Amino acid sequence: MTKVTKVYLISEQIDKDGNKIDFKKISELLWNLQRQTRDIKNKCVQLCWEWLNFSSDYYKKSEEYPKEKDTLGYTLSGFVYDRIKNGSDLYSSNLSTSSRDTCTAFSNYKKEMLNGERSVLSFKANQPLDIHNKAIKLSYENGNFFVALKMLNRAGKEKYGINDDLRFRMQVRDKSVRTILERLMNDEYKVSASKLMYDKKKKLWKLNLCYSFDNHVISTLDPEKIMGVDLGVVYPIMASVNGDYARFSIKGGEIEAFRNRVEARRRSLLNQSRYCGDGRIGHGRKKRTEPAAQIADKIARFRDTTNHKYSRALIDYAIKNGCGTIQMEKLTGITSNAEHFLKEWSYFDLQTKIESKAKEAGIKVVYINPKFTSQRCNKCGYIHTDNRPVQARFCCQKCGYEENADYNASQNIGTKHIDVIIEETLKMQCEPEVPTE
Ligand SMILES: [Zn+2]
Repeated sequence: MTKVTKVYLISEQIDKDGNKIDFKKISELLWNLQRQTRDIKNKCVQLCWEWLNFSSDYYKKSEEYPKEKDTLGYTLSGFVYDRIKNGSDLYSSNLSTSSRDTCTAFSNYKKEMLNGERSVLSFKANQPLDIHNKAIKLSYENGNFFVALKMLNRAGKEKYGINDDLRFRMQVRDKSVRTILERLMNDEYKVSASKLMYDKKKKLWKLNLCYSFDNHVISTLDPEKIMGVDLGVVYPIMASVNGDYARFSIKGGEIEAFRNRVEARRRSLLNQSRYCGDGRIGHGRKKRTEPAAQIADKIARFRDTTNHKYSRALIDYAIKNGCGTIQMEKLTGITSNAEHFLKEWSYFDLQTKIESKAKEAGIKVVYINPKFTSQRCNKCGYIHTDNRPVQARFCCQKCGYEENADYNASQNIGTKHIDVIIEETLKMQCEPEVPTE
């Protein structure tokens, strides 16, 4: 199934020296490409028309139509492309899309054009620009979606003094567009050939982004089917449907590893700048520690992208299992321990993303009190601190149930009214040795 979504674009083009290129200059470039596209499409029509005339003359003489391959050497659209491929500034894949589509349109309307029911195809200057699916690259940085479009061939790049693809920030105003873009970046959806056009009223360029996906049957969500989500230490996410042995887990360490890598680099940069005249010395502390801020930025972007990926995968698991409810513990993102701040904040960010994606999918989010959920046996309900001999394992001291500790916790977290159940259990366990948290 192929669908289309419309997104307005803001130019973020930077020249060779890192200076921003004026939006007007980019617009002029694109208008120029539109005119070139118009000329090329009209040339395609002319070539198709010539072939049609040749073909009907041939028919009159020999009472059969000529075969494209025998006469032209290859198919008509290949023949046409060969004649228009040089001389423009257009990126070759986009150019071939324009040419092929024009040939297809010509052959679809051929009969009507010949019968005079339709005027001969002709194209105006405000042609939408065709963009091949491989010429579109999406990215997400600092809370914004960007798209890089390959629009120019080598000659074009030289002519306009632009090295890279054309880069735009996407104006994402509603959640449904955001969801589509996220799914495209997760490869759940695939980008198809799209079109770029100018909106005269808004004075902005608009991308008609086409995408496709498999039509999978979306199961109806059952609000009584609960998934417990444990945001833990061993696994960043461990989730399971209440009563299911199957589990969803993310091993993680990705963000930590990334941070360690870039921080090692920062330390080495700081050492260098302390001892060497690398240009930053003598410009004050701010200048000297400049890389640190950039690194923090880098880590934040990496975390953002990673957490989007994790939360999307989790919500997909919930949908696949028909869970209408997700239960998890409420994190605040606030901690007095400075050392743990970044890590805690990362979980808080992850939780925020899980919640918003769950809501978009129509899944209810219930926050529970996590107290004792890691010490409670999800099989017999026994609560004891000794049930956790080591951090990673759960071993029930009463019924002997043994499991991965995070999985056991996720089963408890996904139990309906778990707060009340735990409270009752603690009252009933005679002489409760008050478990420590
Ligand atoms: Zn037990």
